[in-house]
Amino acid sequence: MTVYVFNPPAVQALAIKDNADRFPINRLFFVGRNYHAHAVEMGKPVDKSVERPFYFTKAPQTLCASGNTVAYPPETANFHFEMEMVVAIGKPGFRVSQEHAHELIYGYAAGLDMTRRDLQLVARDKGRPWDLGKDVEHSSVCSDIVPMSEQIIDSGAIALEVNGVTKQSSDVNKLIWNVREIIADLSLFYHLQPGDLIYTGTPEGVGPVVTGDKITGRVEGVAEIALTIGAPD
Ligand code: MN
Repeated sequence: MTVYVFNPPAVQALAIKDNADRFPINRLFFVGRNYHAHAVEMGKPVDKSVERPFYFTKAPQTLCASGNTVAYPPETANFHFEMEMVVAIGKPGFRVSQEHAHELIYGYAAGLDMTRRDLQLVARDKGRPWDLGKDVEHSSVCSDIVPMSEQIIDSGAIALEVNGVTKQSSDVNKLIWNVREIIADLSLFYHLQPGDLIYTGTPEGVGPVVTGDKITGRVEGVAEIALTIGAPD
């Protein structure tokens, strides 16, 4: 038996709808600028005819189940919500064609890509990595995984409210790169594995939260999500 000098990190996992077993997390991938109106509000419009999607990752330890209260994070004065549809991968795949992309899908979830926007934009504009802006503790918020084996979702309302006031309202059919295209493209770079989550990007309307705010959101036909912003540590 292997003996470690301290307890190894716990496996991160999410509940699965109508299943007592849990979904263990491998990696967390995020698609950048995947709705035109959000790309424009960030000052970086996308021309799909000449661009490819881009990605960033967060550590699995940033996972946070829906319904939690998280402390307002340190070293930011502009902590933003981003409502996203999440694809849960259930089978391995490398260099997967768009036609076979659905075969990797275990299910979907509703997610929040919480972001230190001030630090992300400084990093972006200085050509530095985004980690301090994006790889924030408790920032990869996710609902229960909803099993939808081998199904492609290409439409459905996606929306978010803060304290009951609508801030984001769009449709998954406005994804610049859709679920098939994302899986095919990402699998050119990575051997996708069961337990990988892909946050597919946020629509327009992102904005800041403060301590005490209650975020609610949903992806139609998938799941709802909730998060409360607590006092700073
Ligand atoms: Mn995002």
